Amino acid sequence: MSPAPELKATLTLPQTAFAMKANLPQNEPLRLARWARLNLYEELRKAGRGRPIYLLHDGPPYANGPIHLGHALNKGLKDFVVKSKTMAGFDAPYVPGYDCHGLPIEIKVDEKLGHKKLSMPVPAVLEACRAYAQKYVDLQTEQFERIGCFGRWQTPYKTMARDYEAHILEAFYGFLEKGFVYRGLKPVYWCIHDRTALAEAEVEYANHTSPSIYVRYRLTSDPAAIAPALAGRQVSTIIWTTTPWTLPASLAVAFHPDFDYVALEVESGEAFIVAAALAAQVTAACKLGPTKELARFKGSVLDRVAFQHPFLERSILGVLATYVTADTGTGAVHTAPSHGADDFYTGQRYGLDPTSRVDAGGHIHVDPDSWHSAQPPAYDGLNVWKANPIIVAMLEERGALLGGSQLEHSYPHCWRCHHPIIFRATEQWFIELDKIMPSTGLSLRTRPDKSLVTLRELAIEETKKVKWDPSWGEERIKNMIATRPDWCISRQRIWGVPIAVFVCEKCGQPIVNHDLNERIVKLFKRDGIEAWYTNAADALLTDELKMEHSLECNVLGNTSFRKETDILDVWFDSGVSWLAVCESDPDLSPAYKAFQNQDGNDDGQKGAKPPEVLYLEGGDQHRGWFHSSLLTSVALRGRAPYSHVATAGWTLDEQGRAMSESLGNGVDPVDIANRMGGEIVRLWVASVDFREDMAASENLMQRCAELYKKLRNTFRFLLGNLHGFVPARDRVPEAVLLPLDRYMLARTRDLAEKILGWYEAFEFHRVYQAVNEFAIVDLSAFYLDVLKDRMYTFAPTSQARRSAQTVLWQITEALVRLVAPILTFTADEIWEHLPAVEGRPISVHLALFPKPEEIFSEDPAPLLEEWKFLFFGLRVRVLSCLEDLRQKKVIGKASEADVMLYAEGATFEILCRNQESLKDLLNVSNVYLHNSKSEPVPKTLSEMPSGACEITSIGDLKGYVLPASGHKCARCWNFMPQVSNYGIWENVCTRCQSALREIGIEPPRSVAAQAEAKQ
Ligand SMILES: [Zn+2]
Ligand SMILES: [Zn+2]
Ligand SMILES: [Zn+2]
Repeated sequence: MSPAPELKATLTLPQTAFAMKANLPQNEPLRLARWARLNLYEELRKAGRGRPIYLLHDGPPYANGPIHLGHALNKGLKDFVVKSKTMAGFDAPYVPGYDCHGLPIEIKVDEKLGHKKLSMPVPAVLEACRAYAQKYVDLQTEQFERIGCFGRWQTPYKTMARDYEAHILEAFYGFLEKGFVYRGLKPVYWCIHDRTALAEAEVEYANHTSPSIYVRYRLTSDPAAIAPALAGRQVSTIIWTTTPWTLPASLAVAFHPDFDYVALEVESGEAFIVAAALAAQVTAACKLGPTKELARFKGSVLDRVAFQHPFLERSILGVLATYVTADTGTGAVHTAPSHGADDFYTGQRYGLDPTSRVDAGGHIHVDPDSWHSAQPPAYDGLNVWKANPIIVAMLEERGALLGGSQLEHSYPHCWRCHHPIIFRATEQWFIELDKIMPSTGLSLRTRPDKSLVTLRELAIEETKKVKWDPSWGEERIKNMIATRPDWCISRQRIWGVPIAVFVCEKCGQPIVNHDLNERIVKLFKRDGIEAWYTNAADALLTDELKMEHSLECNVLGNTSFRKETDILDVWFDSGVSWLAVCESDPDLSPAYKAFQNQDGNDDGQKGAKPPEVLYLEGGDQHRGWFHSSLLTSVALRGRAPYSHVATAGWTLDEQGRAMSESLGNGVDPVDIANRMGGEIVRLWVASVDFREDMAASENLMQRCAELYKKLRNTFRFLLGNLHGFVPARDRVPEAVLLPLDRYMLARTRDLAEKILGWYEAFEFHRVYQAVNEFAIVDLSAFYLDVLKDRMYTFAPTSQARRSAQTVLWQITEALVRLVAPILTFTADEIWEHLPAVEGRPISVHLALFPKPEEIFSEDPAPLLEEWKFLFFGLRVRVLSCLEDLRQKKVIGKASEADVMLYAEGATFEILCRNQESLKDLLNVSNVYLHNSKSEPVPKTLSEMPSGACEITSIGDLKGYVLPASGHKCARCWNFMPQVSNYGIWENVCTRCQSALREIGIEPPRSVAAQAEAKQ
C-alpha cells in the first residue's frame, strides 16, 4: 500500500545521476584516464606550493615480476599517507622507485641467454638485464596506478638509471675515502649454487638434515703436562660436528678456558678428554661403556697442546675460546678458520691460515701439504654435500668415528635459490663498523664529552632520535646494528654497480684518489655502469697515479694494476637512495636538505619546522633497507636518513598461513582490481591493522565489496536528497537549524576530529571502522530514515526541509573529503555529483580535509551529551514500547503512534529545546510534551486511552506510547489533527496541502472554498 499514484507523484523523492551500480572494473580506468588528462599529480604539486612539506621516501620494490598483495598493501598504505597528508595541508610529493640490479634478474637473463652469454661482451649482457628490469618497472607502474596510487609515475627513480648508478659509486667512494672500506679474507655466507657471497639479509633459516658425528682426535703432546695422572697413557679428545666436509680444513680444537674438563678412562685403557658437564651425554652418544674419571682440570691447561688430524698428516692445535658452550657437543670444538666466523677470529689469534680449499662451486680440493699419497682422497673435487658421507666413511675406516646419527636442525639457506649455504673464506670488500668516524677534514668525530665514536656506535645513537612505529622497531634495529659483523659489500656477479677501483697487483690495495674517483663518477653519469668495461675507464689510470701509488706501496717497484671486477651488494644500491633521490632529485632536495641540516641550522631562521621524513615498509626491513640506509647515511652524513619509520606486518590467509602457489591461497591484487575494482583492494588495505599480520582471502575481499555497496548506497541517498539544493541560496544558518540537524552536525564534527587524528597516527583501520559505522548506523539506519518524512513530503523549499538539506550537504561535503584518501575513485565520482559551489577544485584530491569548526562552529561535546539522553535514554525506551504495541497488533508502523511525555525541571528544558525534533527522533506521528509541575500527570496506564504502553521512566521523565489520534493523511501517512479534501484527493493534511500548493498543484477553487469552510 502506498499513496495513490497521482499523489505519490507529488512527493519530492531523491534524484541523482550518481549510479547505484558502481561498475568499478569498467569505470576506474576511465577515471584514471581523466586524472592523466588533468595532469592531477602536477596539479597537486602546484596546489602544494608554499605549504609545509611532508616527505614519504619510497622504498623500491624489486622489479622482477608482477605485483603481489604485499606490494599492493605497501603502496596502498603509502598512498593513504600521501593523500591524507596532502589533504591535511602539506605538500607531500611522492616519487616511487624501483630496485633493479642484482642476482634474481641476472639469473633470469642468464637462463634466457644460455650459452650465448659466454660470447657476449659484458655491456651487452647488462643491456639485456636493463631491458628485463625495465619490463617489470613498466608493468608494476601500470599495476600500482591501477589501484589508484598517486605519484610521479612518469619518472620514478630507478637504481639502474645512469644518474643513480653514478650516485651509488659516489657513495662507495665516500666510504672509501673516509677509510671505512677494506679488502680482506673472511668467511662469508656463500651460496655454492649461485656462486656468490650473501649478505646477512639474504640468508633465511630452514630445516636441513645433517650428519651428526663424534670424532676422535688423538693427543700427540705429552699427556702428563695436562695432568700427572695421564702420564704414559693414550689420550684423545672427542669433537662433535654436523659438517664433516669442514674436517679437511680442521686446524685446531677449541676449549673453554674456564670450564671443567675430565679425562675418562674406558675399558681399553684409553682416556678421553671432554667437558665435565657433557661427560654423561658424550659417554652415551659414543657408547664408551663404563668409564672412570682419571683427572679433572680447567680448559686453560689445554692451550697449545697438540692433536693428530684424524686422516690428514697435520698437527692440530689446542686453542682457547669463550664461545665454546656446555649445552651441546663435547666441549671440544673442531675449528676450521676458513669455514666459520668464530673459527676465523680464533684462527687469527693463533696465526692459523684461513685460506679456503673449497672453491666457489663448493668443491673441496685437497691440501697438498698434508696429503702425501699419489692417490688423492676420495672427497677431492667433490662438492661439500657429496663429500660428507665419504668423509664419514673415511673416519669409520680409520677408527676415528665414535658415534654418528642424522640431525634435523635449523640451517642457513640462500633466500634466492633456497639451497643450503656454507661459510667460506674469500677475498671480499668490507665496510668496517667499528672504525672511528672521521669528520670533515682531518679531525675525528667526537661526542659532546670529546670521546671518539665509531660508525656502529653513532648508528645506534641515531636510532634513538627516530620515531619507530611500532616502538619495538627501535630495539630490533639497535640489536641488529650492535651485533652485526662488518658489512660485506662485494658480490662476484656483473648486474650491479662495479666496485670501480684499480687494485695494485703487488699489495692488493686500491688507488684512493679523489680526483680519479670524481672522473669515474662523471663517466658513470654519462654512460652508466657499462663505462667501467670500456677503454675510457682504463685511460683514467695515468702513469702519474701509478707513480703516486708506488711511493706508498709497501711492495716496492710496482707498476701493474687490475680493474676490480666485483660489484656492490644491492642493499648498498637501495641503501643510498636518500643520497641518489632525496638529496639529488630537484623535486625533493630542498626539503630533504632542510631536514638533514635541522640541528645545525636553526640560528635565526624563522622557525619553519623541518619536514618529517618517513620510511614505511615491511617489518623485515630492519635488517634490510632501514638498516642499510641508516649505515650509509650515518657514515656519509653523520645522521639517520629518516625521522619516522613505520613497519607493516605480513599478509596471510584466513588461517594465518603464508600465501603460496602450492596452497593456492594467494590473493592477486590485479585480479581483484579487474574483477571487483581497485577500490576494493584499497578498502581491504584500510580494513586491516597493518602493524599486525593481516588476513586476506577471496572471502574477505567479497566482504569489502559488500561493504562498498552499502557505503555507495549511503552516498547515493545523500546526493539524491540534495537535488534542488543550491548552497549559496538555500543554506540555513547553523543557529536556526532544527535541533536534530544540529545534533547530526555535531556528530559529524566529532567524527571528523577523530578521523583527522587517526590519519595523523596512520590508524587507517579506525577510519575505516568509524566511517562504516557512521554511514550504516548513524546515517542509513537512523538519520536518513527519519528524514524521509521531511524530505519527501514537506514543501520543497520549506525551512525545515532546507535545514535537513543543509546538514545532508555538509555531511556529504565532509565525508567525501574524509574518505578520499581511501576511496580514491568513488570520492572523486561523488565530488562531481555534489551541488555546484563556486571556486571548487576540479577533483576532491585537490581539496583539503574539512576543518572541524567549519562543519559545526561549537564544541560538540555538550550537545552530544544532551543527545545521549535523548537518543539512548528516551529513544531506546520508546522503540521498545513501539515494538511491544506492534507485537500486540495495536499498531503497524511507528507513524501510527503518538508519544506523550511528562517531565519537569532540567529534563523538561532539554525536551523543550529539542521539541521540534522529537517527532523525527522517535519517528512517530506526534509527540506531546507536558510540564509535570503544572499539568496533571496520569498516575496509571488506566488513565490513558486503551492500547497505550508506558515507557520505563528515566528520572522524573514519564511517558506513554499510544495509538495515534487524528486522521491518517493520504499523502504523508502521518496521523494529523486535521485532514481535508484537497482537489481530487481526500484526506490530505494541512502540511501536505501547503506542500502541494508550493509545487503548483492548486485545488479547483470550489473545492478549496469548501475545504476552508469546513475548517
Ligand atoms: Zn643461492
Ligand atoms: Zn701496491
Ligand atoms: Zn500529510
